[in-house]
Amino acid sequence: MTTLLITGGRVLDPASGFDQIADVAIADGRVVEIGPDLARQPAVRVIDATGMIVCPGLIDPHVHLREPGQEHKETIQTGSLAAIAGGFTTVCCMPNTTPAIDSPEIVRFIADRARAEARCRVFAVAAATRGRQGIEPTELRLLAKAGAVAFSDDGDVVASAGMMLGVMREIAPLGLCFMQHCQEPTLTRGATMHAGDVSTRLGLIGWPRVAEELIIERDVRLVAESGCRYHVQHLSSGGSVEIVRQARAAGLPVTAEASPHHLLLTHEAVAVGPASSRCENHRHLEDGTAKAHRLEASATSAHRLEAGATGYNTSAKMNPPLREQSDIDAIRAGVADGTITVLATDHAPHTPDEKAQPFEDAPFGIIGLETALPLYAEALVHSGAIDWPRLLALLTIEPARLCNLDRARKQNDGLGELFAGGPADITIIDPDAEWTIAEDTLAGKSVNTPFLGRTVRGRAVATIVGGEVVMERDRTVHALPSE
Ligand SMILES: [Zn+2]
Repeated sequence: MTTLLITGGRVLDPASGFDQIADVAIADGRVVEIGPDLARQPAVRVIDATGMIVCPGLIDPHVHLREPGQEHKETIQTGSLAAIAGGFTTVCCMPNTTPAIDSPEIVRFIADRARAEARCRVFAVAAATRGRQGIEPTELRLLAKAGAVAFSDDGDVVASAGMMLGVMREIAPLGLCFMQHCQEPTLTRGATMHAGDVSTRLGLIGWPRVAEELIIERDVRLVAESGCRYHVQHLSSGGSVEIVRQARAAGLPVTAEASPHHLLLTHEAVAVGPASSRCENHRHLEDGTAKAHRLEASATSAHRLEAGATGYNTSAKMNPPLREQSDIDAIRAGVADGTITVLATDHAPHTPDEKAQPFEDAPFGIIGLETALPLYAEALVHSGAIDWPRLLALLTIEPARLCNLDRARKQNDGLGELFAGGPADITIIDPDAEWTIAEDTLAGKSVNTPFLGRTVRGRAVATIVGGEVVMERDRTVHALPSE
């Protein structure tokens, strides 16, 4: 008997190209049937999705869940709550935890914690080098066997070309992908924001585009050498888009992801008010009134100071940094022409105290899971770059393929698409819902985002994992119990 019936929605499955008003019947955690007029069937529960998009559950291949080791920022459980609030049914967590995810035991620990605590599916991306130190490779084959879905030293680049080639040669036969955090270290020492006129004005050390582009250039050559699948994480530079475009045109197994902030914000978001704030910060510290400074900076990061106030917006500090409008335009064009095939939030929770430090000391990163969908819609759909079916492909089947979670590899357990017999991981989206991003709308443990106060359009109104409705916004989804 059907346990859950979703009726009347625009069912959109990018993998098959299905795009029709239809019903979806679910039983025993799996999709039983997709088609018209299933409402005649008896069902335990019916969700009326009229006016909504019904699609495969969203997949984010790049999040930081902070467990083990930094549970004050986020845990696997709270990160999963943020995920389902944003419509994500699967997330892949990065290995820059403490300890790093660099042994089969830690990969299994993540899986065990996820099974016990998480409301969505969680898969581990394992480190390619021990402790992410870039010196000694991890046991890549054993990590894959333990369940790692990809490899990355994210947070850090694998700086040595020799190490990178060695690791790629070992990963290639495993069929998994290496995901690179592209940052040439000697060009970015002490850098905290994009190298441009804003960093000059603020007196901050700049992080130039070439530091990203150089690593991608190098790695593309190593891909040609090794045959390893290679993925550029969170690309930020227009030049990077062009390198990826050329590599793909040459037939190399290279993919890339874009993040909401790099699609919408420029380096101007770092500066708040007049440019004198650096001196202000330093005077506070020299006076020994660090606490007063923290409070002031806290106001900056959590609430964004009013125009005319002074300060840096540490909530706009991220790595790679926010760049310029020309980069945003190039990244959007890259999404539109199929160069960039994956979207990823780089969800990076930090506490208000951590973000309240002076700009140079505050950690990099912003949260993303709960705000991503409407921000992607704003940057890519409302702007006319792509349509909803393509946007959802970049959020479902494409990341599933990236992390080997798709039907070709997992058969009936394949994620990222809707098919009879497949897992009932489904997101219901109200594409027109208007809402304002505010701290009290966020479900995760941290609220560090420069998008607080922004009114956005589009929202997940229900998230279903394995046939279970794990998130539901009652005001917009009408649940009609039936016998
Ligand atoms: Zn990174």
